[in-house]
Amino acid sequence: MKKPQKKQLKVVEDSMNKGGSKPAKQPHVPAQENDHREILNAPLPEKYKELYDLSPSGYFTLDKQGVILDLNLSAALLLGKDRSSLINQSFSANIAESHLDIFQVFFEKIFTTGVKTCCEVALKNDFKPFVFVHIDGTVLSKAEQCVLAIADITARHKAENELKVKQDIFELSLDLHCSTDGNGFFKIINPSWTRILGWTAEEIMTRHSTNLIHPDDRDSTLGVKRNLLQASGIVNFENRLLCKDGTHRWIEWNVVANTTEDTIVSVGRDITERKQVEDENRKLAMIANLTVNAVILTDSDGLIQWTNEGFDRLTGYDFNEVQGINVFNFLVRSGTSQEVILYIRSCFKNKKGCRIELLNFNKSGTAYWVDVEIVPMKDNDNLVTGFMLLEKDITEKKKTETALLNQNEDLNKRAEELTLSNEELERFAYVASHDLQEPLRMISSFMQLLIRNYEPLLDEKAREYVRYAVDGADRMKMLIMDLLEYSRVGLNKDLFQQTDLNELLQEMDVIFSGPGEGHRLILQYPAMPVIFANRSQVMQLFQNLLGNAIKYQAIDQPIVQISWEEQPQHYLFRVTDNGIGIAPKYFEKIFVLFQRLHVKEEYSGTGIGLAICKKIVELHGGTIWVESTEGEGSTFFFTIRKVA
Ligand code: ADP
Repeated sequence: MKKPQKKQLKVVEDSMNKGGSKPAKQPHVPAQENDHREILNAPLPEKYKELYDLSPSGYFTLDKQGVILDLNLSAALLLGKDRSSLINQSFSANIAESHLDIFQVFFEKIFTTGVKTCCEVALKNDFKPFVFVHIDGTVLSKAEQCVLAIADITARHKAENELKVKQDIFELSLDLHCSTDGNGFFKIINPSWTRILGWTAEEIMTRHSTNLIHPDDRDSTLGVKRNLLQASGIVNFENRLLCKDGTHRWIEWNVVANTTEDTIVSVGRDITERKQVEDENRKLAMIANLTVNAVILTDSDGLIQWTNEGFDRLTGYDFNEVQGINVFNFLVRSGTSQEVILYIRSCFKNKKGCRIELLNFNKSGTAYWVDVEIVPMKDNDNLVTGFMLLEKDITEKKKTETALLNQNEDLNKRAEELTLSNEELERFAYVASHDLQEPLRMISSFMQLLIRNYEPLLDEKAREYVRYAVDGADRMKMLIMDLLEYSRVGLNKDLFQQTDLNELLQEMDVIFSGPGEGHRLILQYPAMPVIFANRSQVMQLFQNLLGNAIKYQAIDQPIVQISWEEQPQHYLFRVTDNGIGIAPKYFEKIFVLFQRLHVKEEYSGTGIGLAICKKIVELHGGTIWVESTEGEGSTFFFTIRKVA
């Protein structure tokens, strides 16, 4: 870049002598001029005195030492001093220190050359900043004195200086500056053209300006320039310029036309980086707008700078309403946990990210739950410049959670109530069955005594009544025994042990298929697992199921097949018989206490066996159910929880 040259005030020789022969050591002074000096040196007649004072130029008469001998009014004004105070004072005391050397050279030259000499210096002035002056100096009185004629050139100096500043701006500016003629040829360009586009100044100056414009932007640019020549004022537009390496840079222009001078003056700013950022932002905004979640960008203090459409949908606000507002203004509502807000505040303060669930309220006051993720955004120096908040609406999830929680509470309450009533029932059953046995025994034994001792006295009808009574007492005894058994089945974890079902079923086989009365059972089962269970209860379970399989038979040979499979949490067992089967409408009823499907004459029983099975299975963390086809047989399924 061209360095601005410091303006030098130089001693310049009289133009009359410029280009002439070298100044002679002994100045040749024409006779006529010498006469003129004599006249000047002589006391001025009164009529010229006024002319001398009122002259716009300042005049000083100095002796050879530079002492002021005389001066006119304009001269005193130039220094802002009283005329009389300057007489016999050194003239150079009024010269700006930085120009003293110039004046010294000039002053010596007046006397050594004897010809009219000039210089430009700054004079001090008591009332204003420096006054820039042009001084012509001429010797007088046989070279013993000299006269200085001084003209104020401050205005010209200022104008020159301003022009210089403008030139400096032109040279130093980081923007593109140029002027082109009406045909689009460059007249002048500043160094930024070379720096930004990579071309040499010559390569640019010899091209038509349109050649440097991206082909897609040429029409629009030419359109702008055509309008410019017709309209007045500054026109702003953007286009892309071609760089020497083949890439393009985005430039924003301010252009003005001077039609009379056939000139267009343009100043362009390289906005490529800004455009790239805008482009990136546009893409990010597109992505952010596609998501159903709300996205908020804030500065490092939490002031909202951008929101997506998801934010509008979730909160009911639009960006214009929230721009520049602190994000916490949207959190301070009754109902939002203060603890959570304090936590988020601390994250903002410590410039840290976090993820938290939060109850918030939309513009119309409706509450919604969000899962908020706060991510700090960092610049190249790893400094946090802002935050990104991603808010996911989890209101539905929260509702389900709350409903489940309430349901669980209800279930727990009901379970507690059931346990209580079960315990009461069991207590009652135990007490009842225990206490009822004694009077029952009395009825039974007295009935037997009655028959034994008084049978001959009884007629057939009386005997039949007694038989009914004995039978009723027997059944009641059975009922009481079963009820007692039912009430005794309880959860005693201490009795849980590794139970080998192979052994257990072998015992069953002995009981049910061995010699004895009634139908003998054919029991088929594969290799069985070893389970952690209350052995005697599991035995009772199989006993009841196998007993029923034998009891509820239409044909002679009862066959039971047992199978099992291992599931993640349980063992599943199947007990399939070839009995009379059960109608689907009774599938659930049969597991309820005292529920029977047959009269005692058909099949004996108390309706407690399967209720006991259900109780045992549930105590082992499982469930029991039946699948059956009437006349074909039934399969009882039950599960036993594995214990890790
Ligand atoms: P009980 O056998 O004493 O009547 P349970 O509780 O053992 O009582 O059985 C309830 C009812 O379920 C029985 O009355 C019977 O009608 C039916 N039932 C049970 N097991 C079978 C089976 N294997 N086949 C068909 N019906 C059955």
